[in-house]
Amino acid sequence: MRSDKTDMGSSGPSGGRVYLVGAGPGDPELLTLRAVRLLECADVVVYDHLVSGEVLKFVPSTSERIYAGKRRNEHTMRQEQINALLVRLARDGKKVVRLKGGDPFIFGRGGEELQALASHGIPFEVVPGVTAASGVSCYSGIPLTHRDYAQGCTFVTGHLKDGTADLDWPSLVRQNQTVVIYMGLGGLPEICRQLVGHGAPPSLPVAVVQDGTIATQRVVTGTLTDIAERVRAASLKSPSLTVIGEVVKLHDALHWFGRDQKDMAPRAG
Ligand code: SAH
Repeated sequence: MRSDKTDMGSSGPSGGRVYLVGAGPGDPELLTLRAVRLLECADVVVYDHLVSGEVLKFVPSTSERIYAGKRRNEHTMRQEQINALLVRLARDGKKVVRLKGGDPFIFGRGGEELQALASHGIPFEVVPGVTAASGVSCYSGIPLTHRDYAQGCTFVTGHLKDGTADLDWPSLVRQNQTVVIYMGLGGLPEICRQLVGHGAPPSLPVAVVQDGTIATQRVVTGTLTDIAERVRAASLKSPSLTVIGEVVKLHDALHWFGRDQKDMAPRAG
């Protein structure tokens, strides 16, 4: 166990404790101070594939790093194995940082991991992260709400089960809202079809943003009618986030990232 000025909270009988930490969407500058401090003094960091290499630079070379994977179709460790690993490491007296892309409580299975820890009496703490919707929205110049266009915003998962997304379509086609779809790249044609089928205007603007907040960020815009084809033609890859709603119209005027950018302070790394 490392000694450090960072307050790592109280520990279990073995001295172990798990910190469920959000790593943000990619840009390491979006990490919280708490996240950086915990990374700098953890004994072991268990991280997912969405955690960027730039973020991992905050982990000292003397700390152990364990890749837990969880790319689609490439589940390096099953969820139960990850849960068991966290319990074992904490019981061994380790200060464990469980590092997840974005925010750990938004489509991150963070709740499930904490339930497993709680059932074994392992002490834990949670550190929020900038979720992909926030990061992508800000770095692509697409406000999620705007008085002229959207008074609300809904986050859903577009992950398909048996070729269909089991979503509450009537609620998603209501006007004056923004819909953000996580994990929706593969299902995009089906999602657009369903929305139009449930009454959304075919001309409703849509943006798909790949690699939000990092140098390789790409934004493809279109409408419910043509976005699937545009995304296919542009060969967008995962991770990509879909933003649907009138706010997408603001992208042309408000996008700034990668355009005439001047740093106020040197970036980490
Ligand atoms: N807990 C994470 C989400 C995990 S689900 C969070 O709060 O952001 C994984 C999905 O998040 C991806 O399929 C993609 O839709 C989205 N995502 C994560 N990082 C992203 C990024 N940098 N750019 C675009 N989408 C991203």
